[in-house]
Amino acid sequence: MITGKNYIGNQLSANGNKVFKTFNPLLNIENQWEITEASTDEVNQAVELAAEAFKTYSKISGVKKAEFLRAIAEEIETLGDELLEVYSSESGLPKGRAVGERGRTLGQLRAFADHIEEGNWVAASIDTAQPERKPLPKVDLRKMNVALGPVVVFGASNFPFAFSTAGGDTAAALAAGCPVIVKSHPMHAATGEMVSSAIIKAAEKTGMPNGVFSNLNSSGIEIGQALVQHSKVKAVGFTGSIRGGRALFDLAAKRKEPIPVFAEMGSVNPVVILPEALQKKYKTLAKTYSNSITMGAGQFCTNPGLIIGVKSEGLTNFVNALAEDIIKEEPSCMLHPNIIGAYETNKTAALSQKGLKVLAGYEDDVKVNHAKQVVTAVEGDIFLNNPTLHHEVFGPFSLVVQCDNINQLEQIISNLEGQLTGTIISDGNEIGKYTTVVNALQSRVGRIIFNGVPTGVEVCPSMLHGGPYPASTDSRFTAVGVDSIKRFVRPFSFQDWPNELLPEELKNENPLGISRLVNGKNSKDKI
Ligand code: NAP
Repeated sequence: MITGKNYIGNQLSANGNKVFKTFNPLLNIENQWEITEASTDEVNQAVELAAEAFKTYSKISGVKKAEFLRAIAEEIETLGDELLEVYSSESGLPKGRAVGERGRTLGQLRAFADHIEEGNWVAASIDTAQPERKPLPKVDLRKMNVALGPVVVFGASNFPFAFSTAGGDTAAALAAGCPVIVKSHPMHAATGEMVSSAIIKAAEKTGMPNGVFSNLNSSGIEIGQALVQHSKVKAVGFTGSIRGGRALFDLAAKRKEPIPVFAEMGSVNPVVILPEALQKKYKTLAKTYSNSITMGAGQFCTNPGLIIGVKSEGLTNFVNALAEDIIKEEPSCMLHPNIIGAYETNKTAALSQKGLKVLAGYEDDVKVNHAKQVVTAVEGDIFLNNPTLHHEVFGPFSLVVQCDNINQLEQIISNLEGQLTGTIISDGNEIGKYTTVVNALQSRVGRIIFNGVPTGVEVCPSMLHGGPYPASTDSRFTAVGVDSIKRFVRPFSFQDWPNELLPEELKNENPLGISRLVNGKNSKDKI
């Protein structure tokens, strides 16, 4: 049952007096549930409980935390079709997508469970003492990753499961040993409450401390601001707009004790099509890209918003084919009237830029809240000189940049802001001639794709979902895959500490049997 209340630790609570409703974009009506925004008291209670829970939760073994994460996955599954229906009614996303995204979310939780159960992630490093060393004896030093403290997670509008309540950030923080306070996304607050109920049940069943998880509703930015400014919050995970992510980053930096904000934000995901590929594969490429641009109404952070090539017969054929194909794609419903409103505003702003040509746009009537896709083109020098054209238009929109030559193409890449992904489309061995282009692209992105599309983010240890600013606020970390746990830990050293008082990971006996760096060599042996 959806109550519209907040979870302050294990308790449902609704002390605030501000209520709001979520919206069904397919039916163009408000959903029935009345959601109560968290009060200032509830914000403080959630953080105090999290800080108290941290004292025990951060010391719980990897095996016990893994039990908790697996129990969350089970409890989410138990919510069954009702959860999928609520998800669709708050996002307009179809059932197939809901099933797929739930599967991804459960997979993430279980992948983190395996990761922390195995235990190597703590990166244990031991340098044993050398009391006889001259001129000075060497001390015994043992280092490992430890949890940071309570983490605030901002739910993302475009992934109500996988990047929200029990999504990647929450799974990573809980796996690291950090209690989580979710600032629920106002567009899918009821989905958020249902998923939160699963987390709370799992916490109770596996004996986790009260406060290991809280879920706060809000319909404006104040709750998020208060959470980021709270002295007992130690890190933030965010997915959304550059404006929102940057505002929270700045707020965290201004605190008396600054804290890290790991924000995954905007990206236009440049796709570079090399000359021979344009000549030989333009038809297939146009089809593939018209599909990738419009998939999920373009509401993916990896949507291909920028396609770059050198002027040639191949490029002309490609833009013509793309123009033909794009209008054959069926428009889909966007997440919310605000998102479609932002799409229309940003699209209009881009289209009003001097030198921008519309190649093709969907012209027929569409159902309410459905987005009409557009592909556009611009000359290389105009693009270079107009930063507005470099900005993301979140939705089914893409811009083809027609360069005079390969030098201009390289210059354009080097002038781009940081991106989540870059793609190179090449035919045969032609890529060998363009190493400087590839190097330029590599310096602007977090992941480079060869002969594919940027949409689709595999969840696995080798994934890097992040990139130079503004793709993310810290390009050293990924927001997807088990390595994302590293955002919520800090390395910590024990010096000359008695063996029996050390954490299991660092004891001489190596009771967990993990891989450790001992005196500079990888080993699972006892010391
Ligand atoms: P958003 O506007 O950045 O909001 C994300 C979350 O951050 C919301 O919970 C929002 O709270 C909060 N927030 C935003 N600005 C804040 C501030 N100044 N202080 C405190 N909290 C703040 O993103 P969204 O709602 O997901 O979508 C809006 C737009 O973001 C889209 O149209 C799109 O342009 C972009 N977006 C990009 C990506 C991407 O991956 N590139 C993904 C999703 C969205 P409230 O909603 O309560 O105000």
